[in-house]
Amino acid sequence: MTKIYSNNLEEIIINDRNVDVSFEFFPPKNVEMEDKLWQAITKLKSLNPNFVSVTYGAGGSTRERTHSTIQKILNETSLKPASHLTCIAASKEEINQILHNYWQIGVRHIVALRGDMPASSPSYQLHPDGYHYASDLVNGIKNLSKEGIKFEISVAGYPEKHPEAKDLEEDIKNLKLKVDCGADRIITQFFFDADAFLKFVDKCRSSGINVPIIPGILPVSNYKQVKHFAKMCGAQIPKWMENIFNNLDDNPETRQLIAGMVATELCRILYKSGVSQFHFYTLNRADLTKAICHVLGVR
Ligand SMILES: Cc1cc2nc3c(=O)[nH]c(=O)nc-3n(C[C@H](O)[C@H](O)[C@H](O)COP(=O)(O)OP(=O)(O)OC[C@H]3O[C@@H](n4cnc5c(N)ncnc54)[C@H](O)[C@@H]3O)c2cc1C
Repeated sequence: MTKIYSNNLEEIIINDRNVDVSFEFFPPKNVEMEDKLWQAITKLKSLNPNFVSVTYGAGGSTRERTHSTIQKILNETSLKPASHLTCIAASKEEINQILHNYWQIGVRHIVALRGDMPASSPSYQLHPDGYHYASDLVNGIKNLSKEGIKFEISVAGYPEKHPEAKDLEEDIKNLKLKVDCGADRIITQFFFDADAFLKFVDKCRSSGINVPIIPGILPVSNYKQVKHFAKMCGAQIPKWMENIFNNLDDNPETRQLIAGMVATELCRILYKSGVSQFHFYTLNRADLTKAICHVLGVR
């Protein structure tokens, strides 16, 4: 047997706080979920995230709930909220009204998205007077600066390609359009293959995209659910992941430990490759995200 003399764990811990994090939440549907969300926010807020974002249901289905969650974050914490906004099912006027309301209550950051039609109405109908792509929405948001409304804007990027795009090159061309229209930052879809992200960043840079590209990290607390999400958004599940989570459906504690290890390893590889900003899809749960942040030196 080979003896290991050095303490390799030393290498695992990142001690300098030069990592920035942000956290994504979704608006709760009921009182029980609201309690869970606020427990998560309470646990994570001390990590001093750059911002926390709140999702917006397909076709505007969570419009009120997203708004009230954002309002509560503004009222009860010193966190900086970013409001997701999808444009696909609304008129420009409706979207502009929502943006005015957000500005008035103190929101200064929008995650500008096209969105998808709800699964219940799959026949894709563009609003005749709407913003058709996220780049159109970014343009619309930028136009508000004439009225003194100047939002910071994040947009979505897809390291493994958006499912509707012909290929990654075409998708990156469309991503560049969003940046050229005024997006300040790209937050990516989740992925499990660090190389896919790093190659995507290289391709973006050689296409002239110079804004920060922040990896979206999804800690896998429920593997079945993640497989379902991945299928919908075109993220690849590597073979090793299938293997490592195999037969753990009824074993949540082991699954949780492995989930922490998988996400921490992904973040460490990215960190070693020069990535210093991470966006966590928390799914309104704090524990895994907090543990991963701890290893990244964010305490
Ligand atoms: C970080 C992040 C957060 C998200 N948050 C939410 C959320 O809160 N709510 C929600 O419902 N969904 C959310 N989504 C999912 C997102 O709405 C879907 O992935 C949606 O299908 C695409 O949105 P987009 O903003 O990327 O669209 P776009 O950037 O408009 O791209 C959509 C597709 O059209 C193509 N395209 C873009 N511009 C053009 C053009 N000019 N001509 C031809 N083709 C074009 C693109 O290549 C892509 O295939 C999120 C995704 C990410 C990565």
